[in-house]
Amino acid sequence: RKADIECQLVVLGSGPGGYTAAFRGADIGLDTVLVERYETLGGVCLNVGCIPSKALLHAAAVIDEADAMAAHGITFGKPKIDLDKLRSFKDGVVGKLTGGLAQMAKARKVRTVTGVGRFISPHELEVQTADGTKLIRFDNAIIAAGSQSVKLPSFPWDDERIIDSTGALELRDVPKKLLVVGGGIIGLEMATVYAGLGAEVTVVELGDQLIPGADADLIKPLQARIAKRYKGIHLKTRVVEAKATKKGIEVTFEGASIPDTTLFDRVLVSVGRSPNGGKVGAEQAGVEVTERGFIPVDRQMRTNVKHIFAIGDLVGQPMLAHKATHEAKVAAEAAAGMKSFFDARVIPSVAYTDPEIAWVGVTEREAKEKGLKIGVGKFPWVASGRAIGIDRTEGFTKLLFDEATHRIVGAGIVGPHAGDLICELALAIEMGAEAGDIGRTVHPHPTLGESVGMAAEVYEGTITDLY
Ligand code: FAD
Repeated sequence: RKADIECQLVVLGSGPGGYTAAFRGADIGLDTVLVERYETLGGVCLNVGCIPSKALLHAAAVIDEADAMAAHGITFGKPKIDLDKLRSFKDGVVGKLTGGLAQMAKARKVRTVTGVGRFISPHELEVQTADGTKLIRFDNAIIAAGSQSVKLPSFPWDDERIIDSTGALELRDVPKKLLVVGGGIIGLEMATVYAGLGAEVTVVELGDQLIPGADADLIKPLQARIAKRYKGIHLKTRVVEAKATKKGIEVTFEGASIPDTTLFDRVLVSVGRSPNGGKVGAEQAGVEVTERGFIPVDRQMRTNVKHIFAIGDLVGQPMLAHKATHEAKVAAEAAAGMKSFFDARVIPSVAYTDPEIAWVGVTEREAKEKGLKIGVGKFPWVASGRAIGIDRTEGFTKLLFDEATHRIVGAGIVGPHAGDLICELALAIEMGAEAGDIGRTVHPHPTLGESVGMAAEVYEGTITDLY
């Protein structure tokens, strides 16, 4: 059969992994085709993930800050929320970015094909488009089909009051009573949005800690703050059943801490994401896929089939946009014959909750489990002039150093802007910085960033009178 399109590189999926790979491929001279099932480029991150959630979190933060100023003599009154306007603000933010991608694809002469793609052989991808099936014959392929939210099978998903993160971002209404099932990053970010907009939020989490990947001490300030604002946070608790009734979603729980509310107007299920590796016909191309749907790759992001690469959420944890974009460049360059490797030492994680929680590299828990000899420098924000000035002293900055070399191996920050503050520490770890390098770097005063230098000085013993 004659191919409809022939290309040197086909990229399947246009999320942060896919679009970055396609653009890089085109920039280094590969004739590139980008296949995406939806009309807009950008994948989960731009359309229903990172970007719309941050636009809504901004709204929630403004409401919260305005409210907090009442204690300092400035009262704004109860916010009036026009959901349609807020939704168009969020959609506008997404539209600007996805529209920008379409232009960038055009400028690079990346051909985009809209439709669902499936491999039918090691060099052929079939795409179901609105105008029928198109056959793409390629020299190299990059699979970037991402992930989707896990749907708990026992839930009545045909009821529109049961939603996943995509449903939550649609912002159909502000439910009076919202149950968030799953206390991970995504669930807690959406809880932050809806609590800010006025919903009564209950969170249930199966594990014994919110945001399981982070150190327990980083979670404490967040938990203390939201415990005052939410109806309840219930750890070691699971949903046994959710039944759709006229009055609401009736939920039964089991575990250590049962919520006293059982009837909810909406239930947001955010219990993790599963990779789409098993859904793209990879086996027809001879590409190995694990039982869970991940695609194993080497450091060049190459699958077991030499000319087929895989990147992003479907190659493994952490499922984060910035991991996908870095892997994407490596894959595109390797497809072009360059000797590129993914060799990031660390990938930072951020929960954009209020306060934010950010961490990078080794955590204290991991260090203990692995028996690493580390020393900790911790700077509490009660001693930060800037934190006092913004009335947010609950935060702290914690640096972890290898005791033998005094090199930084990990960091955790909790407090407003933790996500921005962690960037410096990712760089410090990549550069092999020692405590002295960080402590003697002149940080501007008074900033929250100063706490990074101070934490290094605490470790070195040049600041001693904090506690
Ligand atoms: P995706 O973004 O999942 O893109 C895959 C694309 O492939 C999709 O567009 C899909 O339609 C397409 N596709 C799949 N199969 C086919 C097929 N057969 N044919 C054609 N097209 C196909 N990460 C962060 O780093 N920071 C954040 O703040 C953050 N916030 C998030 C908030 C939410 C609510 C969610 C859900 C996720 C968030 N993430 C965040 C995670 C982030 O969105 C993902 O890590 C990232 O999108 C993964 O990129 P990707 O390229 O692997 O795949």
